[in-house]
Amino acid sequence: MKLALIAHDGKKAEMVAFMRDHMERFRRADIELVATGTTGSHVAGAGLRVNKVRSGPYGGDAEIASQVARGEVDAVFFFRDPLDKHPHEPDILMLMRICDVHNVPLATNPASAKLIFQALVQNPT
Ligand code: PGA
Repeated sequence: MKLALIAHDGKKAEMVAFMRDHMERFRRADIELVATGTTGSHVAGAGLRVNKVRSGPYGGDAEIASQVARGEVDAVFFFRDPLDKHPHEPDILMLMRICDVHNVPLATNPASAKLIFQALVQNPT
């Protein structure tokens, strides 16, 4: 199973907290992680192995969208900051659209991610 992780700057602490809360299950379930650059560094700092693509504003969201389009990603956890502006808004919308095009679960906040994660771990694809 492969999960993609992206967190805007205002949400990176919540992403790290989410990963820490589910650390044991991440390790036991042998889940492959891919993340945008800075998010990936934070997740790695929390002690998980993660493949990093470019930082979001430099094309990382687009790289992850390409993996989703190729059928390589089982779910996307994209903790967006709705209270901030983003220079790469077109890429953000494109990634969410690609998830919808390919019917890939997309969580844009920790509560949704928790539900999707529980379902995936209980019923791995
Ligand atoms: P980052 O990118 O993980 O490199 O900060 C996330 C984003 O802003 O889309």
